[in-house]
Amino acid sequence: MLLLALACVRGATSRALWNSRAAGVVTDLNCSKNRGSHPTIEYSAGGKTYQFQTAWNYSAQTFAVGQKVTVLYPPNRPQFGMLDSFSELWPLPIVLLVVSLVLLGLAWRAKTGLPPILHGVCSVGLTVFGGLLGMTLFSLLCIPGGFDVLAGAPLLVSLFGGMLLFFATVPVTALGTFALWNCYIPARCPRCSGGMRGKFVGKQLVYTCTSCGHHQ
Ligand SMILES: [Zn+2]
Repeated sequence: MLLLALACVRGATSRALWNSRAAGVVTDLNCSKNRGSHPTIEYSAGGKTYQFQTAWNYSAQTFAVGQKVTVLYPPNRPQFGMLDSFSELWPLPIVLLVVSLVLLGLAWRAKTGLPPILHGVCSVGLTVFGGLLGMTLFSLLCIPGGFDVLAGAPLLVSLFGGMLLFFATVPVTALGTFALWNCYIPARCPRCSGGMRGKFVGKQLVYTCTSCGHHQ
């Protein structure tokens, strides 16, 4: 996790420092009703013209068709262009870094066991986070500009392949994080400080102490 975050930070830094810059122009705003705009940007590098869409959502007023922007691209792979802006480069590395540090801190504290409430909150938080991680993995695999594993496949194949990949990544990472967390970090009984086991009763996560039977 921390390694992934550091890799992202390194990736963003190297993009900002060593990538070539090119003049780009906004060719389309791709506005949708409630999700703002994902502008298409066109730029030329090495005598060829390339296009990409921004990774981030912008409000419809941020860009205008024909507006000049700066594009960053790796000198040896000019097709992977991205917008030269703070919001395109830094949010993912920063979020990953913060989450890893929080996890590290929690893990440090959790060696002696967490109170059941905090443990439950972390369970839910981590499951959601695992799901998000799965989504990221899924989009990395499928979107053009990522690995794009389904590029060029017939429509039906890419449709079913996409669904299959989605179900193979998102629930697995979500439940996997949940299971790992519950496996390695114990909840601690507030009464006798024995170990507690979490269990779902209906929608409620209930912790029961394995030594004194106290539950909450
Ligand atoms: Zn107990």
